[in-house]
Amino acid sequence: MRVHLCGLPIPVLAKKTKSSISTSHRLAPQSVAPSQDRHSFRSILILADIEGSSGCDSYRASSFLTRSWAQACASMSRDVDAVVRALFDAGIEQVTVQDFHRTAYNLLPELIDPRARIICGYRRGPVPGLGHPGNAQAVMMLGMHAASGTPGFLPHTLTSRLASVRVNDRPLAEVELFSASLAPFGVRPIFFSGCAVACAQARERIPGIHTIAIDKQIPLEVPDKMNWRRSLARGAVTALQGIPPAPYRPQGPFQAVIRIRDGAKAAAHMASPWGFKRCGATLMLHTLDMNTLYNHLIQLCYLKPLTYKTLPVSLFLFNLMGRLGRQWVRYQLIRSAGH
Ligand SMILES: [Zn+2]
Repeated sequence: MRVHLCGLPIPVLAKKTKSSISTSHRLAPQSVAPSQDRHSFRSILILADIEGSSGCDSYRASSFLTRSWAQACASMSRDVDAVVRALFDAGIEQVTVQDFHRTAYNLLPELIDPRARIICGYRRGPVPGLGHPGNAQAVMMLGMHAASGTPGFLPHTLTSRLASVRVNDRPLAEVELFSASLAPFGVRPIFFSGCAVACAQARERIPGIHTIAIDKQIPLEVPDKMNWRRSLARGAVTALQGIPPAPYRPQGPFQAVIRIRDGAKAAAHMASPWGFKRCGATLMLHTLDMNTLYNHLIQLCYLKPLTYKTLPVSLFLFNLMGRLGRQWVRYQLIRSAGH
């Protein structure tokens, strides 16, 4: 059974602290149009996924413990490295990279400019998966994919078990969830990379965001990857200039209609523990703000009430599994280099 788990695996529900849920309620709804001021950024956060990176050409290459995944991890790390170097060359003082694919242990820090801070594994805190964004002023999303129920390369929203997620009658893309979760901290979504469909969705949701698409029609050879990384890095630097989008605070309320891929029984299994409204394989969620919707989706996709109670332990074990998986990647890369 194919299941994508992207961005936020099992135990990463944001703590319902004052700084998380209540912050989003306190915020006045704002326009998502580009802000009117130029911005001089010093600190950038990168969220790195694998599906839209240069080495992932199949579902298998995004899947834990496959040989093609090991190669994709190396390519993803080199993509990130190209952007990190370009950002430091452009005068950025601090770059933090959060691995955001499945186990969150895909990036190989030894392949990335050591000036960047690489964070693997997930943390609890006000921003799901990330914990706290620190002093980041802007976010760049690399290697991303399109929303569940839309075309594009390996499209999904959090997990492919959600066949489609429509919010206020349009597909919900992860770029919206991630950007909204960072908005309470004033973080601006300024750059996005993924397949052409994913990029179009990002531009439509967040006017003014800069995008660089990757062609997923054919696997890229090494020279193609190097060329593409150069354009990716140039795009990231371009995104630092001009007038950036404002922090993403879409106006609620939000009515989500979610179709569960594996039918009514699977939908009941996912929704019943949380008391979410359901009709057959379709679930309905109603929230006033996007961060509450994000937390409900995390509950739906990754948690049971009992798992939630034991979250620190399950998070530790999940991250341990990720670390072991990354060691396996290193072993595979050394083996393949020897042949
Ligand atoms: Zn992913």
